[in-house]
Amino acid sequence: MKRLEDKKLFLFDMEGVIYRGRGALEPIESAVEFIDYLKAAGKKVRFIGNATIKNREMMLETLRKVGVEADLEDIFMVGALTAEYISKNYGKCRCFVIGSDVFKSDLKKEGILLTDTEDCDLVVVAYEKVSYDRLNTAARALLKGAELIAAHMDRIAPSSNGIVMSSGCFVRALEHASDKKAKVSIGKPSSYFFKKVMGKFSPSETVMVGDNIDADIVGANRNGLESVLVLTGVSTMEDAKKAKGERKPHVVVKTLKELV
Ligand SMILES: [Mg+2]
Repeated sequence: MKRLEDKKLFLFDMEGVIYRGRGALEPIESAVEFIDYLKAAGKKVRFIGNATIKNREMMLETLRKVGVEADLEDIFMVGALTAEYISKNYGKCRCFVIGSDVFKSDLKKEGILLTDTEDCDLVVVAYEKVSYDRLNTAARALLKGAELIAAHMDRIAPSSNGIVMSSGCFVRALEHASDKKAKVSIGKPSSYFFKKVMGKFSPSETVMVGDNIDADIVGANRNGLESVLVLTGVSTMEDAKKAKGERKPHVVVKTLKELV
C-alpha cells in the first residue's frame, strides 16, 4: 500500500492480529504472510503487548508456534518495561504488586523487592484476580505514602467466561481510595511505551498494526504513528466507522492480506 511503502518500522500487536485463542493457538494466516513480506522488503518488525500474564520469552515461543520468526530483542512486553522503569527511577525499592506470578518474576529479575504488606515504597498494578483484602492493603499503602505505578490502563479483557475487568479498573479504584494519581502508565497507549518501543525510529517512520482501537489505534495516533486497524480481533467495522478524532484509524483492513 502506497502510504506504508516508505515506512521503516512496523509494530505488531499480537493477540487478535497474529493469533487468536488463549489455550489452543489459532494463527491468523494473513498476518504471518504480511510479516514475511515486510521482512523481505527490508522493514524492521517489532512485537508489542500489554499482557502481563506472559513475558517476552513466552511470547517468543507463542510467535514461533504460529509461524513467526522473531528475536527476543524485538519483543516488548509491559512486564519487562515496568521492571526497567522501576529499577531506573526507584532503585531497589519495596513493591506491593497486584499482578500475576509471571509479572512478579519480571520485577524480581531486575532486583526489585516484593512485599505483601502495606509497608512499601510503591504499589504496582497489573492484572490478577485480586481480592478485596489485597486492594485494601494497596489502598492503605498509598494512604501511608507509597506511590502508584500502573503497568497499563486497559479497562477490560476477554476471558473464557466473558469480559473481565483489567488493570485500569484496579488503578482507578486505588486512585479514588487514596486521592492520588498513578505516576505513570507503562503500557499502550502511553507515550512512554511508544518511545521505548520505537527506539531510534521516529513516529513518522513507524506503523502500528493492531486490532484494538482503544489501545493500539489511540496509542498510534496520539504519538504520531501511522495507524492500521485489522478486523481480525477486538474492534469491528462498526467501531471503525463510528471512531472519531484520535480513535480513527488511518487505514482499516479486513485482513492483512490486503496490504501485501
Ligand atoms: Mg490485540
